[in-house]
Amino acid sequence: MYCNNNMVYHCPAPRSCNFRHCMLYSHLTFVLNRRSRSRERRRSRSRERKRSTSRNRGRRSRSNSPSKNLARLNLNVHYYSMWLFDNFDQNKLEEEMRKRKERVEMWREEQRKKAIENIGEIKRELEERKQGKKWSLEDDEGRQTHHEEEEEEEDDVDPLDAYMEGVKEEVKKFNMGGMRGNDKRGMMVTNVTVVKSKKGSLTHKKKGELMINDQDAMEYSSEEEEVDLQTALTGYQTKQRKVLEPVDHQKIQYEPYRKNFYVEVPELARMTPEDVHCYRLELEGITVKGKGCPKPIKTWVQCGTSMKILNALKRHSYEKPTPIQTQAIPAIMSGRDLIGIAKTGSGKTIAFLLPMFRHIMDQRPLEESEGPIALIMTPTRELALQIAKECKKFSKTLNLRVVCVYGGTGISEQIAELKRGAEIIVCTPGRMIDMLGANSGRVTNLRRTTYVVVDEADRMFDMGFEPQVMRIVDNVRPDRQTVMFSATFPRAMEALARRILAKPIEVLVGGRSVVCSDVQQHVLVIEEDKKFLKLLEILGHYQEKGSVIIFVDKQEHADALLKDLMKASYPCMSLHGGIDQYDRDSIINDFKNGACRLMVATSVAARGLDVKQLILVVNYNCPNHYEDYVHRAGRTGRAGNKGYAYTFITDDQARYGGEIVKALELSGSPVPPELEKLWSSFKDQQKAEGKSIKSSSGFSGKGFKFDETEHALANERKKLQKHALGLQDSDDEDGPLDIDEQIESMFNSKKRVKDLSALGPPSAGNIQKLEMAKRLALRINAQKNLGAEAQDVMQQATNAILRGGTIMAPSVSAKTIAEQLAEKINAKLNYTPVEKLEEERQAAEQAETVKRYEEELEINDFPQTARWKVTSKEALQRIGEYSEAAITIRGTYFPPGKEPKEGERKIYLAIESANELAVTKAKAEITRLIKEELIRLQNSYQPTSKGRYKVL
Ligand code: ADP
Ligand code: MG
Repeated sequence: MYCNNNMVYHCPAPRSCNFRHCMLYSHLTFVLNRRSRSRERRRSRSRERKRSTSRNRGRRSRSNSPSKNLARLNLNVHYYSMWLFDNFDQNKLEEEMRKRKERVEMWREEQRKKAIENIGEIKRELEERKQGKKWSLEDDEGRQTHHEEEEEEEDDVDPLDAYMEGVKEEVKKFNMGGMRGNDKRGMMVTNVTVVKSKKGSLTHKKKGELMINDQDAMEYSSEEEEVDLQTALTGYQTKQRKVLEPVDHQKIQYEPYRKNFYVEVPELARMTPEDVHCYRLELEGITVKGKGCPKPIKTWVQCGTSMKILNALKRHSYEKPTPIQTQAIPAIMSGRDLIGIAKTGSGKTIAFLLPMFRHIMDQRPLEESEGPIALIMTPTRELALQIAKECKKFSKTLNLRVVCVYGGTGISEQIAELKRGAEIIVCTPGRMIDMLGANSGRVTNLRRTTYVVVDEADRMFDMGFEPQVMRIVDNVRPDRQTVMFSATFPRAMEALARRILAKPIEVLVGGRSVVCSDVQQHVLVIEEDKKFLKLLEILGHYQEKGSVIIFVDKQEHADALLKDLMKASYPCMSLHGGIDQYDRDSIINDFKNGACRLMVATSVAARGLDVKQLILVVNYNCPNHYEDYVHRAGRTGRAGNKGYAYTFITDDQARYGGEIVKALELSGSPVPPELEKLWSSFKDQQKAEGKSIKSSSGFSGKGFKFDETEHALANERKKLQKHALGLQDSDDEDGPLDIDEQIESMFNSKKRVKDLSALGPPSAGNIQKLEMAKRLALRINAQKNLGAEAQDVMQQATNAILRGGTIMAPSVSAKTIAEQLAEKINAKLNYTPVEKLEEERQAAEQAETVKRYEEELEINDFPQTARWKVTSKEALQRIGEYSEAAITIRGTYFPPGKEPKEGERKIYLAIESANELAVTKAKAEITRLIKEELIRLQNSYQPTSKGRYKVL
């Protein structure tokens, strides 16, 4: 089994080894040595730090303890070494795979062990708190030192034995803890992983199923929402489940803060609107929507940032602002909410970081137990780390602290860092919610937060993430400044995202959702079994020139391709959700610094990653939706460099062809004839089967033209819709603002503020009306001779009148005759029931508020589906929960041409609350839903955007 090539005498590669194998081996040795050297360095640094009073001893030093490093190294190096051992020996390979699984499991076990330690820590802390002892830095340092000593002692012990001993110990300890707790059956609590399911419920998994189940859990999201055992148990043990309670902002006295810092320099002030227009065109065609946007700047100095920042920019060779930066920075600096859309690699990160620093520096320093001033949310852990790193380039000189909060790694280090205080948190939403919920907000909280960034915003508002993002944002004061960025922003996503923005400016650089023009795109229609050879051919051409990333669709495919590439003498690594987070961190690190230049990844690496020398992206499996294609391709061609993207598409993936054709067309790249043929034959086939063609990208502007007939049909529908909206004269097809205004005018909104304290006890008149309602209802019942079931409905209707004069109908269409009649009675009587008023008055008195805010939105004239969208029981419930306002349907539907008689009202939604903000929120949500439906109708051959992202 030894190499007969004498260049490296101890190379364990097979006989067929050529020079490349030996290179690989030396590369391996290099990496190993480099790592052990850097481990040594880190260890000595950490000893150094221990002696000094440095506060920054957290994640790095602990997670880099020699024994852990060794195990992690094993895992990483496993990928390199796998092929060395598995060549031509399948059994050995299987053995290796089994070992790998064992190791991964061991790692997980170790994390659990850590978690258990932390429970101890937190319990201790809770007890200390109870005894009145305050948490102090010294305590924490002390504990950490203790841990480090423990870890260093482990050095001489075989790591495997150490793990096993530790695990056994902890299992024993923990079992006892579990018995003491609620678990009367004595179940092994350590063996339970708590995984948050899609719907947010917690499901418990047995450890025996760990490998498979964890992978299942990762299928739906790039951010594995694994709630750490420790946090789950903290809640369990302290009998308070770790939930992030909604905040009643009215009850909190927030300090005033400043967000407008921008002063226009004379050079810009002199620019005429025409100059500005020309300048924006020059800058890759910037379009701005929203009123009062400042002019784009020309140099860094003009954005009004500090000398320290300017020096840092210079140090990192950021010579002048990129187009998105020229426009977004002054807009954010002037305190506005913003949506920034610009191609991949165009410097969006700096565009939100620079104004953030100015924003933070203007505020008073953090006090103990105060949370961050700025919160940056991202969809993947790797991206969170990357942004935190970019942030640190500047924050050090400003003495600002950045903490990266993301799942999959030990929570204790992050807790410790947060407790020390951080002005900036970069996070993935799942872990952030855990943190905010931990210890009733004592770990961190959002009371000081005034600046919120949502990066890769369309992904963040896709299913899966949206509820989490909303939960966090709802806990930040309503007058915060919120900015969001992405390279792709389908309209529907944008409408959803706008919910959290106040009068935003929208900055669009170049096209909406297009592949960066610096990426040269190639698409190859190819048979499955020819892909690998083609890949090798492409790699042969590009690998020498820079780093390469190969995207596949599934975790197993990533591992399989990695193995094949290894066999073909390409040292590489794989990155996907099934890999332990510590490994993911080190893999991405190696890929970024060029230690490894070939990576096989799932779409977990598609968003935001910035690898300087990345020259080529290969979509080994064709991406299944448009945005995924744009972001994958966008890993190359960044910051003005050239890049190449190859996409393999097989015959049975023809359904994705339309997306790729569109991507090529929109970015001005030629569409290869084979692809065009594949797509058109797919369309023909679908048509022959009588199926409609769906675009999986959802709402991207004006829809996708298939052929002339369909185009004409789409136009017809659009016209109809415009007619419904009274937009016939408008040429602006996108015109979101116009639609907003139209919706607003159709609402024919009526606002009222009632002073409940002025209300007296129930009046005689009201009692009379009540009697009349009862009599009328009974008469209708008798006249219609309704059956028992309907009588029940009648009873409900009467009760409804008694309760609130309204009926929470499941949907307009499903209304029974009885309900409608009852509503009419209600409208005729113009009657507000006494009980309700009295109830509200009491509630208001209790809440010490005496005002009730009401707004009525007429929805009668919107298209039927739009009405349904906001009148279904679920919708009303959801809007109610989201806004905390009461929404009821009142009035009756009048078809076009019919007008209500006196005393009647067209169907409308009544929003009521003691809180004005709740009414505004509910209205915004209703508007959004109607708008979404109207846009959908405009492009009705496109599906809604459910579950488009399936990132593994
Ligand atoms: P995006 O988020 O738009 O995809 P990033 O913010 O990750 O892009 O930036 C891409 C690259 O461009 C990064 O390597 C960053 O350092 C670099 N960059 C950002 N701004 C500038 C600038 N003004 N001049 C030169 N390089 C820049
Ligand atoms: Mg980015």
